[in-house]
Amino acid sequence: MIANYVGGQWIKTQGVEVLAVFNPATGEELGRTPLSSGAELDAAVTAAGAAFRDWRRVPVVERVQYLFKLKALLEEQLDALAATITRECGKTLAESRGELRRAIENVEVACGTPILMQGYNSEDIAVGIDEIMIRQPLGVCAIIAPFNFPGMIPFWFLPYAIACGNTVVIKPSEKVPFTMQMLMQLIERTGLPGGVVNVVNGGREVVDAILDHPQIRAVSFVGSSTVARHVYSRAAASGKRVQCQGGAKNPVVVLPDADLESAAEIVADSAFGCAGQRCLASSLAITVGDVGRPFADAIGEKASARVTGYGLDDGVQMGPVISGESAARIEQLITQAVNDGARAFVDGRRPDISAYPNGHFVRPTVLDRMPLSSAVAQTEIFGPVLSLHHVDTLEQAIALVNEGVYGNQASLFTSSGANARQFRCDAEVGNVGINVGVAAPMAFFPFSGARGSFFGDLHGQGRDAIEFFTQEKVVVERWPRAWTRRF
Ligand code: NAD
Repeated sequence: MIANYVGGQWIKTQGVEVLAVFNPATGEELGRTPLSSGAELDAAVTAAGAAFRDWRRVPVVERVQYLFKLKALLEEQLDALAATITRECGKTLAESRGELRRAIENVEVACGTPILMQGYNSEDIAVGIDEIMIRQPLGVCAIIAPFNFPGMIPFWFLPYAIACGNTVVIKPSEKVPFTMQMLMQLIERTGLPGGVVNVVNGGREVVDAILDHPQIRAVSFVGSSTVARHVYSRAAASGKRVQCQGGAKNPVVVLPDADLESAAEIVADSAFGCAGQRCLASSLAITVGDVGRPFADAIGEKASARVTGYGLDDGVQMGPVISGESAARIEQLITQAVNDGARAFVDGRRPDISAYPNGHFVRPTVLDRMPLSSAVAQTEIFGPVLSLHHVDTLEQAIALVNEGVYGNQASLFTSSGANARQFRCDAEVGNVGINVGVAAPMAFFPFSGARGSFFGDLHGQGRDAIEFFTQEKVVVERWPRAWTRRF
């Protein structure tokens, strides 16, 4: 049974509902996770609040020493962690390793917090008066994570939050609780004082308790847009600082001057990698001019050739989706798109993965001639499904990019600098890829997002995270005139 971690202790929760967690490839039950209560969340916040009093006074150069230790432990345990991610989340081992590299990168960047959280000052803003700005930690901060990157997403926030002197309560996704158990064991091994990082497992009840808790000063959320909107409005209503990253429906535009073979390869990796369960997955390819048919043929070939199976097996390029419910939802959306007029050019419904009959597999699917009037064209499918749509000009393609309700990422494939520059300027999204299918920002850049994909002001990662997890305090100091040299 999964345990909570509160005030430096592993706590087995009592008398709460539990949820079985399954390996999505094999159907094997991996264990059970508690759906903790609001009272359990409250105990974790109390522990975090108590730890904050001392932690905020630990010099920042000492605070980051725990991150240096954590980086070493993450490197040492990378393979074991990756196998755990694959077992509970379904992605391939290479994808799990890749996500952990991103987690480590965030720990490395947060090791620079002694410089990143520096303030600034001005001497003699008037005679004998100095003004300084210092950054101070906020207090107890909460992190609420989705299922699809259990090893990476908490690290968009956690290392920055604690390096800045805050204490945190993390609520992992109840669908994938094992990775955070392992990560917390490694954090414990760094010798970090009890209460600085706490983990409370659960679902909606814990989230709502976080949003209403008077002692929590800031909330970092990643998940679907429906829940992101709820978290943003309810947490902000109780005066918290909030950053909420939501869902996506990412368009990719392919121009006739693109390198077709490489574009098809990259778009296939973007659309079908992680079984399409990532917020930067391409899900709508808009072809321009005479590239439509050749691109459809090339991407269809890549989709059909993708080896689907258990992510721990050699040679597998795509794993299952997270649950049977998710597989059924994806298949239903494909059927709806076909009923609305799309052609399932490559059809991944009801695949026969004979070695894993209990797995939740959907093979790569390409929906040609997707009518944009279909509700599916605007719906986040969150599975390995790429829709194709054709237009005549780049301007029409950009207009379509900007019509969508989401604004997480848009990519352009071209060899023209002028077209790339126009796209970079005009696409109303948070992350832009030029000849790149998954424009995931490095840890020293903000993980952006716009419109229906992001609610808040400051993003995760890098300088944005430092600003989010600190409060600016401005001090104006007057000193005796006699101490100021006069000319
Ligand atoms: P989700 O919204 O179902 O769950 C996210 C978190 O919210 C979980 O911890 C869950 O326990 C909690 N939650 C779920 N329903 C809730 C409710 N009604 N009230 C309160 N809390 C609730 O998301 P998911 O299915 O775990 O993850 C997939 C989604 O996350 C996709 O939409 C994907 O695009 C998005 N995502 C976005 C980014 C990004 O950077 N923008 C990154 C990763 C995932």
